[in-house]
Amino acid sequence: MSNYLIVGSGLYGAVFARETAKAGNKVTVIEKRDHLAGNIYTKEVDGIQIHEYGAHIFHTSNKKVWDYVGQFADFNRYTNSPVANYKGQMYNLPFNMNTFNQIWGVRTPQEALAKINEQRQEMAGKEPKNLEEQAISLIGRDIYEKLIKGYTEKQWGRPCTELPAFIIKRLPFRLIYDNNYFNDDYQDIPIGSYTKMIEKMLDQPNITVKLNTDFFDKKKEYLNKFDRVIYTGMIDQFFDYQLGELEYRSLRFETEEKNVGNYQGNAVINYTDRATPYTRVIEHKHFEFDKGDQNKTIITQEYPVEWRRGDEHYYPVNNKRNNQLYAKYAELAKQQDKVIFGGRLGQYKYYNMDQVIESALECVEKFI
Ligand code: FAD
Ligand code: UDP
Repeated sequence: MSNYLIVGSGLYGAVFARETAKAGNKVTVIEKRDHLAGNIYTKEVDGIQIHEYGAHIFHTSNKKVWDYVGQFADFNRYTNSPVANYKGQMYNLPFNMNTFNQIWGVRTPQEALAKINEQRQEMAGKEPKNLEEQAISLIGRDIYEKLIKGYTEKQWGRPCTELPAFIIKRLPFRLIYDNNYFNDDYQDIPIGSYTKMIEKMLDQPNITVKLNTDFFDKKKEYLNKFDRVIYTGMIDQFFDYQLGELEYRSLRFETEEKNVGNYQGNAVINYTDRATPYTRVIEHKHFEFDKGDQNKTIITQEYPVEWRRGDEHYYPVNNKRNNQLYAKYAELAKQQDKVIFGGRLGQYKYYNMDQVIESALECVEKFI
Protein backbone atom coordinates (compact mmCIF):
# COMPACT_ATOMS: atom_id res chain seq x y z
CA MET A 1 0.00 0.00 0.00
CA SER A 2 1.34 3.43 -0.95
CA ASN A 3 0.45 6.88 0.17
CA TYR A 4 -0.80 9.03 -2.74
CA LEU A 5 -1.37 12.77 -2.95
CA ILE A 6 -3.67 14.02 -5.71
CA VAL A 7 -3.43 17.75 -6.39
CA GLY A 8 -6.74 18.89 -7.85
CA SER A 9 -10.23 17.40 -7.64
CA GLY A 10 -11.14 17.86 -11.33
CA LEU A 11 -11.96 14.94 -13.54
CA TYR A 12 -8.36 13.80 -13.93
CA GLY A 13 -7.67 13.90 -10.21
CA ALA A 14 -10.98 12.23 -9.35
CA VAL A 15 -10.51 9.32 -11.79
CA PHE A 16 -6.96 8.82 -10.61
CA ALA A 17 -7.98 8.98 -6.96
CA ARG A 18 -10.77 6.47 -7.48
CA GLU A 19 -8.63 3.90 -9.27
CA THR A 20 -5.68 4.30 -6.93
CA ALA A 21 -7.90 3.87 -3.91
CA LYS A 22 -9.59 0.84 -5.47
CA ALA A 23 -6.16 -0.73 -5.84
CA GLY A 24 -5.82 -0.48 -2.04
CA ASN A 25 -3.72 2.67 -1.66
CA LYS A 26 -4.24 5.51 0.75
CA VAL A 27 -5.26 8.67 -1.13
CA THR A 28 -5.39 12.32 -0.12
CA VAL A 29 -6.94 14.78 -2.57
CA ILE A 30 -6.16 18.46 -2.05
CA GLU A 31 -8.14 21.14 -3.87
CA LYS A 32 -7.42 24.85 -3.71
CA ARG A 33 -10.99 25.87 -4.56
CA ASP A 34 -13.83 25.59 -2.05
CA HIS A 35 -15.56 22.88 -4.05
CA LEU A 36 -14.90 19.62 -5.87
CA ALA A 37 -15.00 18.80 -9.58
CA GLY A 38 -12.67 21.40 -11.15
CA ASN A 39 -14.14 23.04 -14.21
CA ILE A 40 -17.05 20.63 -14.51
CA TYR A 41 -18.46 21.86 -11.20
CA THR A 42 -22.16 22.74 -11.23
CA LYS A 43 -24.12 24.50 -8.50
CA GLU A 44 -27.87 24.16 -7.99
CA VAL A 45 -29.86 27.43 -8.05
CA ASP A 46 -33.69 27.50 -8.27
CA GLY A 47 -33.64 23.77 -9.03
CA ILE A 48 -31.36 24.34 -12.03
CA GLN A 49 -27.78 23.08 -12.34
CA ILE A 50 -25.58 26.07 -13.14
CA HIS A 51 -22.46 25.21 -15.12
CA GLU A 52 -20.23 27.58 -13.16
CA TYR A 53 -17.21 27.29 -15.46
CA GLY A 54 -18.97 27.17 -18.82
CA ALA A 55 -21.28 24.75 -20.59
CA HIS A 56 -20.14 21.14 -20.31
CA ILE A 57 -21.56 18.40 -22.49
CA PHE A 58 -20.15 14.94 -22.14
CA HIS A 59 -19.42 13.25 -25.48
CA THR A 60 -17.24 10.35 -26.50
CA SER A 61 -16.83 7.54 -29.00
CA ASN A 62 -14.71 5.59 -26.57
CA LYS A 63 -16.89 2.78 -25.22
CA LYS A 64 -14.47 2.10 -22.37
CA VAL A 65 -14.76 5.72 -21.20
CA TRP A 66 -18.54 5.68 -21.65
CA ASP A 67 -18.89 2.50 -19.56
CA TYR A 68 -16.54 3.97 -17.00
CA VAL A 69 -18.58 7.12 -16.36
CA GLY A 70 -21.75 5.01 -16.34
CA GLN A 71 -20.63 3.63 -12.95
CA PHE A 72 -20.99 7.06 -11.39
CA ALA A 73 -24.04 8.60 -13.08
CA ASP A 74 -27.07 8.01 -15.22
CA PHE A 75 -27.21 10.31 -18.22
CA ASN A 76 -30.03 12.23 -19.86
CA ARG A 77 -30.56 12.46 -23.61
CA TYR A 78 -29.15 15.93 -24.17
CA THR A 79 -27.85 16.62 -27.68
CA ASN A 80 -25.86 19.78 -28.11
CA SER A 81 -27.23 21.92 -30.97
CA PRO A 82 -25.99 25.47 -30.50
CA VAL A 83 -27.40 28.19 -32.71
CA ALA A 84 -25.32 31.11 -34.01
CA ASN A 85 -26.56 34.68 -33.93
CA TYR A 86 -24.71 36.77 -36.51
CA LYS A 87 -25.94 40.39 -36.42
CA GLY A 88 -29.46 39.22 -35.55
CA GLN A 89 -29.61 36.45 -38.15
CA MET A 90 -29.84 32.91 -36.77
CA TYR A 91 -27.84 30.00 -38.20
CA ASN A 92 -27.69 26.37 -37.16
CA LEU A 93 -24.43 24.83 -36.04
CA PRO A 94 -22.33 22.85 -36.67
CA PHE A 95 -21.95 23.53 -40.39
CA ASN A 96 -24.60 21.33 -41.96
CA MET A 97 -27.37 21.43 -44.59
CA ASN A 98 -29.48 23.72 -42.37
CA THR A 99 -26.60 26.23 -42.21
CA PHE A 100 -25.91 26.00 -45.95
CA ASN A 101 -29.60 26.56 -46.68
CA GLN A 102 -29.67 29.59 -44.34
CA ILE A 103 -26.48 31.07 -45.84
CA TRP A 104 -26.90 30.34 -49.55
CA GLY A 105 -30.48 29.13 -50.00
CA VAL A 106 -29.21 25.78 -51.32
CA ARG A 107 -31.45 22.77 -50.70
CA THR A 108 -29.58 19.63 -51.72
CA PRO A 109 -26.17 18.25 -50.75
CA GLN A 110 -25.09 18.57 -54.41
CA GLU A 111 -25.98 22.28 -54.48
CA ALA A 112 -24.24 22.83 -51.14
CA LEU A 113 -21.09 21.03 -52.21
CA ALA A 114 -20.94 22.94 -55.48
CA LYS A 115 -21.11 26.20 -53.52
CA ILE A 116 -18.50 25.08 -50.99
CA ASN A 117 -16.15 23.89 -53.74
CA GLU A 118 -16.54 27.20 -55.54
CA GLN A 119 -15.58 29.01 -52.32
CA ARG A 120 -12.68 26.66 -51.61
CA GLN A 121 -11.06 27.68 -54.92
CA GLU A 122 -9.51 30.59 -53.05
CA MET A 123 -7.19 28.09 -51.35
CA ALA A 124 -6.70 25.78 -54.33
CA GLY A 125 -3.34 24.01 -54.22
CA LYS A 126 -2.27 25.75 -51.01
CA GLU A 127 -1.57 23.95 -47.76
CA PRO A 128 -3.48 25.74 -44.93
CA LYS A 129 -0.95 27.25 -42.55
CA ASN A 130 -3.23 28.86 -40.01
CA LEU A 131 -6.83 28.83 -38.78
CA GLU A 132 -8.09 31.30 -41.40
CA GLU A 133 -6.68 29.27 -44.28
CA GLN A 134 -7.87 26.03 -42.73
CA ALA A 135 -11.41 27.39 -42.33
CA ILE A 136 -11.56 28.71 -45.89
CA SER A 137 -10.25 25.46 -47.35
CA LEU A 138 -12.78 23.53 -45.27
CA ILE A 139 -15.92 25.58 -45.72
CA GLY A 140 -15.24 28.74 -47.76
CA ARG A 141 -15.11 32.45 -47.07
CA ASP A 142 -18.84 33.20 -46.52
CA ILE A 143 -19.14 30.91 -43.53
CA TYR A 144 -15.69 31.86 -42.32
CA GLU A 145 -16.64 35.58 -42.28
CA LYS A 146 -20.07 35.09 -40.65
CA LEU A 147 -19.67 32.18 -38.27
CA ILE A 148 -15.98 31.70 -37.55
CA LYS A 149 -13.82 34.83 -37.79
CA GLY A 150 -15.49 37.06 -35.20
CA TYR A 151 -16.18 34.27 -32.71
CA THR A 152 -12.66 32.85 -32.97
CA GLU A 153 -10.89 36.18 -32.70
CA LYS A 154 -12.94 37.05 -29.61
CA GLN A 155 -12.37 33.60 -28.13
CA TRP A 156 -8.60 33.53 -28.62
CA GLY A 157 -7.81 37.27 -28.63
CA ARG A 158 -5.62 36.83 -31.70
CA PRO A 159 -6.18 37.16 -35.46
CA CYS A 160 -7.19 33.89 -37.14
CA THR A 161 -4.03 34.16 -39.24
CA GLU A 162 -1.99 33.67 -36.06
CA LEU A 163 -3.95 30.72 -34.69
CA PRO A 164 -3.23 27.02 -35.20
CA ALA A 165 -5.40 25.27 -37.80
CA PHE A 166 -6.32 22.36 -35.52
CA ILE A 167 -8.76 24.43 -33.42
CA ILE A 168 -11.29 24.64 -36.23
CA LYS A 169 -11.00 20.95 -37.06
CA ARG A 170 -12.85 20.31 -33.80
CA LEU A 171 -16.09 21.39 -35.49
CA PRO A 172 -17.96 18.85 -37.63
CA PHE A 173 -19.05 19.71 -41.16
CA ARG A 174 -21.66 17.53 -42.83
CA LEU A 175 -23.95 17.44 -45.84
CA ILE A 176 -27.04 16.28 -43.97
CA TYR A 177 -29.73 18.21 -42.09
CA ASP A 178 -28.36 17.40 -38.64
CA ASN A 179 -27.67 20.02 -35.95
CA ASN A 180 -25.92 17.64 -33.56
CA TYR A 181 -22.71 19.50 -32.64
CA PHE A 182 -20.72 16.31 -32.05
CA ASN A 183 -20.01 13.26 -34.18
CA ASP A 184 -19.48 11.01 -31.19
CA ASP A 185 -21.36 7.77 -30.49
CA TYR A 186 -22.35 8.86 -26.98
CA GLN A 187 -23.41 12.29 -25.77
CA ASP A 188 -25.25 13.35 -22.63
CA ILE A 189 -25.30 15.23 -19.35
CA PRO A 190 -25.24 13.38 -16.04
CA ILE A 191 -28.59 13.38 -14.31
CA GLY A 192 -28.19 15.02 -10.90
CA SER A 193 -25.01 16.93 -11.99
CA TYR A 194 -21.35 16.51 -12.72
CA THR A 195 -20.58 17.50 -9.13
CA LYS A 196 -22.51 14.49 -7.81
CA MET A 197 -20.70 12.28 -10.31
CA ILE A 198 -17.33 13.42 -8.94
CA GLU A 199 -18.55 13.05 -5.35
CA LYS A 200 -19.44 9.47 -6.13
CA MET A 201 -16.02 8.80 -7.65
CA LEU A 202 -14.34 10.11 -4.52
CA ASP A 203 -16.65 8.29 -2.14
CA GLN A 204 -14.21 5.63 -0.95
CA PRO A 205 -13.17 4.90 2.65
CA ASN A 206 -9.47 5.31 1.81
CA ILE A 207 -9.88 8.71 0.08
CA THR A 208 -9.60 11.91 2.13
CA VAL A 209 -10.52 15.20 0.45
CA LYS A 210 -9.27 18.57 1.67
CA LEU A 211 -10.79 21.67 0.07
CA ASN A 212 -9.30 25.20 0.26
CA THR A 213 -5.84 23.64 0.28
CA ASP A 214 -3.17 24.88 -2.10
CA PHE A 215 -0.29 22.54 -2.94
CA PHE A 216 2.14 25.47 -3.09
CA ASP A 217 1.56 26.38 0.55
CA LYS A 218 3.49 23.24 1.54
CA LYS A 219 5.06 21.93 -1.64
CA LYS A 220 8.27 20.60 -0.02
CA GLU A 221 6.43 18.93 2.82
CA TYR A 222 3.98 17.19 0.44
CA LEU A 223 6.77 15.98 -1.82
CA ASN A 224 8.59 14.48 1.18
CA LYS A 225 5.58 13.00 2.88
CA PHE A 226 3.86 11.16 0.02
CA ASP A 227 5.13 8.18 -2.00
CA ARG A 228 3.65 9.56 -5.18
CA VAL A 229 2.06 12.85 -6.22
CA ILE A 230 -0.45 13.28 -9.06
CA TYR A 231 -0.35 16.92 -10.02
CA THR A 232 -3.18 18.38 -12.13
CA GLY A 233 -2.37 22.09 -11.70
CA MET A 234 -0.35 24.26 -14.08
CA ILE A 235 2.94 22.64 -15.04
CA ASP A 236 4.81 25.96 -15.30
CA GLN A 237 3.71 26.92 -11.78
CA PHE A 238 5.03 23.61 -10.42
CA PHE A 239 8.48 24.63 -11.66
CA ASP A 240 8.09 28.17 -10.36
CA TYR A 241 7.88 29.52 -13.95
CA GLN A 242 11.66 29.05 -14.21
CA LEU A 243 11.60 28.71 -18.02
CA GLY A 244 8.94 31.37 -18.55
CA GLU A 245 5.15 31.49 -18.41
CA LEU A 246 2.83 29.41 -20.56
CA GLU A 247 -0.08 31.42 -21.97
CA TYR A 248 -3.72 30.63 -21.35
CA ARG A 249 -7.01 32.08 -22.39
CA SER A 250 -9.32 33.00 -19.55
CA LEU A 251 -13.05 33.67 -19.31
CA ARG A 252 -15.34 35.92 -17.34
CA PHE A 253 -18.87 34.70 -16.70
CA GLU A 254 -21.78 37.07 -16.06
CA THR A 255 -24.76 35.24 -14.68
CA GLU A 256 -28.24 36.70 -14.18
CA GLU A 257 -31.71 35.50 -13.35
CA LYS A 258 -34.49 36.42 -15.78
CA ASN A 259 -38.15 36.51 -14.88
CA VAL A 260 -39.26 34.41 -17.83
CA GLY A 261 -39.57 30.65 -18.07
CA ASN A 262 -37.69 30.43 -21.35
CA TYR A 263 -35.32 33.23 -22.34
CA GLN A 264 -33.61 32.16 -25.55
CA GLY A 265 -35.13 28.80 -26.49
CA ASN A 266 -31.85 26.92 -26.54
CA ALA A 267 -29.09 25.96 -24.09
CA VAL A 268 -26.35 27.68 -26.11
CA ILE A 269 -26.49 30.66 -28.50
CA ASN A 270 -23.16 31.73 -30.01
CA TYR A 271 -22.66 35.38 -30.97
CA THR A 272 -20.36 35.16 -33.95
CA ASP A 273 -19.93 38.85 -34.82
CA ARG A 274 -16.87 40.74 -33.58
CA ALA A 275 -18.79 43.64 -31.97
CA THR A 276 -20.78 41.67 -29.36
CA PRO A 277 -18.24 41.33 -26.53
CA TYR A 278 -19.30 37.87 -25.37
CA THR A 279 -18.99 34.65 -27.37
CA ARG A 280 -22.00 32.74 -26.09
CA VAL A 281 -25.03 32.90 -23.85
CA ILE A 282 -25.96 29.78 -21.94
CA GLU A 283 -29.45 29.15 -20.59
CA HIS A 284 -28.72 26.46 -18.04
CA LYS A 285 -32.18 24.95 -17.65
CA HIS A 286 -32.17 23.68 -21.24
CA PHE A 287 -29.37 21.23 -20.44
CA GLU A 288 -31.95 19.26 -18.50
CA PHE A 289 -35.61 18.72 -19.22
CA ASP A 290 -38.57 20.01 -17.19
CA LYS A 291 -36.30 21.16 -14.37
CA GLY A 292 -36.46 24.35 -12.34
CA ASP A 293 -38.95 27.17 -11.89
CA GLN A 294 -41.41 27.58 -14.80
CA ASN A 295 -41.34 31.40 -14.44
CA LYS A 296 -37.63 31.95 -14.01
CA THR A 297 -34.46 31.09 -15.78
CA ILE A 298 -30.74 31.67 -15.33
CA ILE A 299 -28.47 32.75 -18.14
CA THR A 300 -24.71 33.25 -18.35
CA GLN A 301 -22.80 35.38 -20.80
CA GLU A 302 -19.30 34.13 -21.53
CA TYR A 303 -16.61 36.78 -22.12
CA PRO A 304 -13.17 35.63 -23.23
CA VAL A 305 -10.36 37.56 -21.53
CA GLU A 306 -6.60 37.68 -21.78
CA TRP A 307 -5.14 35.60 -18.97
CA ARG A 308 -3.04 37.20 -16.27
CA ARG A 309 -1.40 35.43 -13.35
CA GLY A 310 -4.09 34.85 -10.72
CA ASP A 311 -6.90 34.37 -13.29
CA GLU A 312 -8.47 30.96 -13.96
CA HIS A 313 -6.66 28.94 -16.64
CA TYR A 314 -9.40 27.83 -18.99
CA TYR A 315 -7.74 27.16 -22.31
CA PRO A 316 -4.11 26.37 -23.08
CA VAL A 317 -3.00 28.41 -26.08
CA ASN A 318 -1.32 25.67 -28.12
CA ASN A 319 0.64 27.83 -30.56
CA LYS A 320 4.27 27.21 -31.52
CA ARG A 321 5.81 29.33 -28.78
CA ASN A 322 3.78 27.70 -26.03
CA ASN A 323 4.15 24.15 -27.33
CA GLN A 324 7.92 24.56 -27.44
CA LEU A 325 7.95 25.94 -23.92
CA TYR A 326 5.70 23.15 -22.71
CA ALA A 327 8.07 20.56 -24.25
CA LYS A 328 10.86 22.01 -22.09
CA TYR A 329 8.72 21.79 -18.96
CA ALA A 330 7.79 18.22 -19.92
CA GLU A 331 11.52 17.40 -19.92
CA LEU A 332 11.83 18.80 -16.39
CA ALA A 333 8.74 16.80 -15.41
CA LYS A 334 10.43 13.55 -16.48
CA GLN A 335 13.12 14.16 -13.86
CA GLN A 336 10.50 14.29 -11.08
CA ASP A 337 10.18 10.55 -10.57
CA LYS A 338 7.67 10.90 -7.72
CA VAL A 339 5.31 13.20 -9.61
CA ILE A 340 2.87 12.44 -12.43
CA PHE A 341 1.59 15.47 -14.35
CA GLY A 342 -1.93 14.99 -15.68
CA GLY A 343 -5.00 16.71 -17.05
CA ARG A 344 -5.57 19.87 -19.02
CA LEU A 345 -3.22 22.04 -16.98
CA GLY A 346 -0.61 19.43 -16.04
CA GLN A 347 -0.17 18.39 -19.68
CA TYR A 348 -1.07 21.74 -21.26
CA LYS A 349 -3.50 20.11 -23.68
CA TYR A 350 -6.90 21.18 -25.00
CA TYR A 351 -8.49 17.99 -23.63
CA ASN A 352 -12.20 17.23 -23.60
CA MET A 353 -13.62 15.38 -20.62
CA ASP A 354 -13.50 11.98 -22.29
CA GLN A 355 -9.84 12.47 -23.24
CA VAL A 356 -9.05 13.41 -19.65
CA ILE A 357 -10.66 10.19 -18.42
CA GLU A 358 -8.92 8.13 -21.07
CA SER A 359 -5.52 9.56 -20.24
CA ALA A 360 -6.05 9.15 -16.47
CA LEU A 361 -7.08 5.51 -16.94
CA GLU A 362 -4.08 4.84 -19.19
CA CYS A 363 -1.75 6.38 -16.64
CA VAL A 364 -3.31 4.38 -13.81
CA GLU A 365 -2.82 1.18 -15.79
CA LYS A 366 0.82 2.05 -16.35
CA PHE A 367 1.69 2.99 -12.79
CA ILE A 368 -0.57 0.96 -10.53
P1 FAD B 1 -9.58 20.92 -14.05
O1 FAD B 1 -11.04 20.69 -14.13
O2 FAD B 1 -9.08 22.30 -14.34
O3 FAD B 1 -9.12 20.49 -12.59
C1 FAD B 1 -7.89 20.88 -12.03
C2 FAD B 1 -8.14 21.13 -10.56
O4 FAD B 1 -6.90 21.33 -9.89
C3 FAD B 1 -8.97 22.39 -10.29
O5 FAD B 1 -10.06 22.08 -9.47
C4 FAD B 1 -7.99 23.34 -9.64
O6 FAD B 1 -8.62 24.21 -8.69
C5 FAD B 1 -7.06 22.36 -8.95
N1 FAD B 1 -5.72 22.91 -8.68
C6 FAD B 1 -4.92 23.57 -9.57
N2 FAD B 1 -3.80 23.96 -8.95
C7 FAD B 1 -3.89 23.54 -7.65
C8 FAD B 1 -3.03 23.67 -6.53
N3 FAD B 1 -1.88 24.35 -6.60
N4 FAD B 1 -3.42 23.13 -5.36
C9 FAD B 1 -4.63 22.48 -5.26
N5 FAD B 1 -5.48 22.35 -6.30
C10 FAD B 1 -5.11 22.87 -7.48
N6 FAD B 1 -15.08 19.19 -22.27
C11 FAD B 1 -16.04 18.39 -22.82
O7 FAD B 1 -15.81 17.18 -22.94
N7 FAD B 1 -17.25 18.90 -23.19
C12 FAD B 1 -17.57 20.21 -23.07
O8 FAD B 1 -18.68 20.63 -23.41
C13 FAD B 1 -16.57 21.08 -22.53
N8 FAD B 1 -16.84 22.40 -22.39
C14 FAD B 1 -15.88 23.21 -21.87
C15 FAD B 1 -16.19 24.56 -21.71
C16 FAD B 1 -15.25 25.42 -21.16
C17 FAD B 1 -15.59 26.87 -21.01
C18 FAD B 1 -13.98 24.92 -20.78
C19 FAD B 1 -12.94 25.83 -20.20
C20 FAD B 1 -13.67 23.58 -20.90
C21 FAD B 1 -14.62 22.70 -21.45
N9 FAD B 1 -14.37 21.33 -21.57
C22 FAD B 1 -15.32 20.52 -22.13
C23 FAD B 1 -13.09 20.73 -21.11
C24 FAD B 1 -13.20 20.20 -19.66
O9 FAD B 1 -13.49 21.26 -18.80
C25 FAD B 1 -11.84 19.57 -19.28
O10 FAD B 1 -11.47 18.58 -20.18
C26 FAD B 1 -11.82 18.95 -17.87
O11 FAD B 1 -12.64 19.61 -16.95
C27 FAD B 1 -10.39 18.97 -17.39
O12 FAD B 1 -10.26 18.30 -16.16
P2 FAD B 1 -8.90 18.40 -15.36
O13 FAD B 1 -9.05 17.55 -14.16
O14 FAD B 1 -7.76 18.15 -16.27
O15 FAD B 1 -8.75 19.96 -15.00
N1 UDP C 1 -15.98 28.26 -33.40
C1 UDP C 1 -16.41 29.23 -34.30
N2 UDP C 1 -17.72 29.59 -34.29
C2 UDP C 1 -18.62 29.04 -33.45
C3 UDP C 1 -18.18 28.05 -32.55
C4 UDP C 1 -16.84 27.68 -32.55
O1 UDP C 1 -15.62 29.77 -35.07
O2 UDP C 1 -19.80 29.42 -33.48
C5 UDP C 1 -14.54 27.90 -33.44
C6 UDP C 1 -13.74 28.68 -32.38
O3 UDP C 1 -12.46 28.95 -32.93
C7 UDP C 1 -13.62 27.70 -31.25
C8 UDP C 1 -13.49 26.38 -32.01
O4 UDP C 1 -14.36 26.54 -33.14
O5 UDP C 1 -12.49 27.97 -30.44
C9 UDP C 1 -13.89 25.15 -31.22
O6 UDP C 1 -15.22 25.32 -30.78
P1 UDP C 1 -15.79 24.52 -29.55
O7 UDP C 1 -17.24 24.77 -29.47
O8 UDP C 1 -15.31 23.11 -29.66
O9 UDP C 1 -15.02 25.26 -28.38
P2 UDP C 1 -15.08 25.07 -26.78
O10 UDP C 1 -16.42 24.50 -26.43
O11 UDP C 1 -13.92 24.18 -26.45
O12 UDP C 1 -14.90 26.45 -26.29
